[in-house]
Amino acid sequence: MHALTGLSPIRLAALVGIPVPQARKIVSVAHRKGALPRGIPQVTRETMAAVVANCHIPALEIVARESSAVDPFQKLVLASHAFERPVRFETVRIPLEKSGRFSVCVSSQAGCALACAFCATGRLGLERNLEAWEIVEQVRLVNATLTKGERVSGVVFQGMGEPMANLDRVLQAIEVITDPSALAIDARNLTVCTAGIPSGILRLANEAPNVRLALSIGSARKDVRRSLMPIDRAHAFDEVIDACVEHTKKTGYSPMWAVTPLAGVNDTDEDALALADLARRFTERAGKRPRISVIPFNAIEGDPFARSPRHRAFRDVMASVGVFSHERYSGAGDIGASCGQLAAKV
Ligand code: SF4
Repeated sequence: MHALTGLSPIRLAALVGIPVPQARKIVSVAHRKGALPRGIPQVTRETMAAVVANCHIPALEIVARESSAVDPFQKLVLASHAFERPVRFETVRIPLEKSGRFSVCVSSQAGCALACAFCATGRLGLERNLEAWEIVEQVRLVNATLTKGERVSGVVFQGMGEPMANLDRVLQAIEVITDPSALAIDARNLTVCTAGIPSGILRLANEAPNVRLALSIGSARKDVRRSLMPIDRAHAFDEVIDACVEHTKKTGYSPMWAVTPLAGVNDTDEDALALADLARRFTERAGKRPRISVIPFNAIEGDPFARSPRHRAFRDVMASVGVFSHERYSGAGDIGASCGQLAAKV
């Protein structure tokens, strides 16, 4: 059985052998109602029978819903019973500047194999890749928490897991999230974040050129990056940056570079100057500047790291050589929903 909510109309039509216009109607109803009614106008009985025989609409269990006391973030802890072994993962509703607009930070894997030193998910190890429908359903469930006039207008693949390590399903989910008959979210408001998998970055540029890219830098000093992000041993940072240049040339979009200063680890003037130099070289090659986001570190239990007190100094050092950055607000630390804190705990 195929999960209907993980299929775009074109995939559904090809899988079940039905006309695309009827597949559009079916997908639209499935996403609006979360179920398949018996009859849909303009959908023949034969088509409906083929869909019912081949597809189902699975659901995720909402294990917990936690709202931050300090800002309007909300975290959903979800469970999937799709396979023999149930898994848990999290999704975060992020308020945008424009009132009534939200972004959803979705998980692409339960756990993560990449073990970045500053990340709670990385400590869990990888349980499994999420299916396309499990990714799409996170957006639909957040949508269902909204009231009249509010809507989800963006999605960031920055929850649990490395999206590029589950790229087939991530791309399939993107098809559904952006399809006008399904969730109809503008692809330009989608961002896929990676710790640095060059082949994935290139594939994203080719197969979803309207989707934006974010790269976790760790540090632009190679030895420091390697000590924080074990993926650096598998994929040299130079190759990651080469792929990032190609992505920018192909899509015309500046990448977002995320850096999280950790006290005494990657927050020195040397780190700031190395990042500024990397950004300058990138700009020369790609023709666009990276948008550098400095993200506050959110400590998790047993953490060997502390938030750097040098954010301002770090940004000032970069600015002194003409490279500008912005400080990103990272909310919901009180409910463990900030960047790097997601661990599917209730
Ligand atoms: S930061 Fe991302 S890639 Fe690194 S361990 Fe955490 S979830 Fe995985």
